[in-house]
Amino acid sequence: MRVRNKPWAPKLIAAHPELITEDPTQLKGQWQSRFEKAQPLQIEVGSGKGQFIINMAKRHPEINYVAIEIQTSVIAVILKKLVEEPLPNLQLAHADGQAVTAFFEPHEVDRLYLNFSDPWPKARHEKRRLTYKSFLQSYQEVLKPNGQIEFKTDNRGLFEFSLTSMNNYGLHFEQVWLDLHAVVTPEENVETEYEQKFSAKGPIYKIIATFPA
Ligand code: SAM
Repeated sequence: MRVRNKPWAPKLIAAHPELITEDPTQLKGQWQSRFEKAQPLQIEVGSGKGQFIINMAKRHPEINYVAIEIQTSVIAVILKKLVEEPLPNLQLAHADGQAVTAFFEPHEVDRLYLNFSDPWPKARHEKRRLTYKSFLQSYQEVLKPNGQIEFKTDNRGLFEFSLTSMNNYGLHFEQVWLDLHAVVTPEENVETEYEQKFSAKGPIYKIIATFPA
């Protein structure tokens, strides 16, 4: 996601340590202390401007969420929304999702979302795709046994790569959609910014997959 530099972003981030962390390693094993209630923990890697995770947090007050986003000017947009409309069950981590095992204890996370991850189409960049086997290994470590990944994309190449990568890793496919919007209602599907932008141009693919215990 390319966004214009937001000069106000670092100051806003520094002003709200109660909502956002820049060093999630400090919260490893302690995430529940950041929320009003201890309840299941779900995370999104690459949250963008946060439309999905904010709406999930509103819809599911019985779940705690952590949005992980690497770009300062992007996560600051989520933070601004959160300052304007506080949500007791959403926390932000300004960090690289590649290091999830440094941020969460084994089995601390109940579910992980990847929405419209960067496709990295060149073969030499395959290892950067968020569904590459090394990422899957990290996700498995922080997820509960039989933890699930939910993955959505509009990119056919990334979808096919992810299917193969998850299959080779031994994940069990619960559901696979080749055209999500043809079958689900808006009530059943919380849309992301990219999903809204790209669903008119072609199908949205979705995978729900479970890790082996
Ligand atoms: N999920 C949003 C959506 O569906 O609208 C944003 C999609 S955008 C294509 C991908 C986002 O992932 C960008 O905001 C990018 O900065 C973020 N991202 C990419 N690699 C990341 C990483 N390793 N850790 C955290 N965020 C990452």
